[in-house]
Amino acid sequence: MNVSFDKSTLRYSLPNKLLCIDDNRLIPPFEEEENEMGVCSECEGQLFSFTYHNFQDYTAVVCRCVDCSLLRIILFDPAWEWVGEYPVSIIDDVSQTSANSVERNSISDIGNIAAIKLETVFSPREIEAMIQKSKGENYVRQYLYNARKKYSLFNELFGYSLEI
Ligand SMILES: [Zn+2]
Repeated sequence: MNVSFDKSTLRYSLPNKLLCIDDNRLIPPFEEEENEMGVCSECEGQLFSFTYHNFQDYTAVVCRCVDCSLLRIILFDPAWEWVGEYPVSIIDDVSQTSANSVERNSISDIGNIAAIKLETVFSPREIEAMIQKSKGENYVRQYLYNARKKYSLFNELFGYSLEI
């Protein structure tokens, strides 16, 4: 299988955990998890995963070496087979113009979103109302109303466009 992207354009923004490919595509992580990912090709130190991103049909795992702190991208195909390992440069932040091209995920079932992300933005009562609404159950309108006012903030932070 072939994956098409310019390997020299791989960048990673640490503050907002966005993977930047081909200079204009910004991909938010779908998962943040620390797993052993093998050995650093530079110093043979242990690589640990940092964030996981969907890229085309592939999964791009941003890893950091515990010894030399080098960031690497390891690409896996849909069958979770290793495709390649690539260097990635760190950018401090993404400009406002390129932030507009972040790939947005539209979400109507918040069960697909890690609780920790929801808890960053919403209160427990707001989350409860959102879950109830998305399941078609009774909910307290005031809490959902308050939650909806924060949807744009949540989208900005995590790249999910909530439709609840
Ligand atoms: Zn290393």
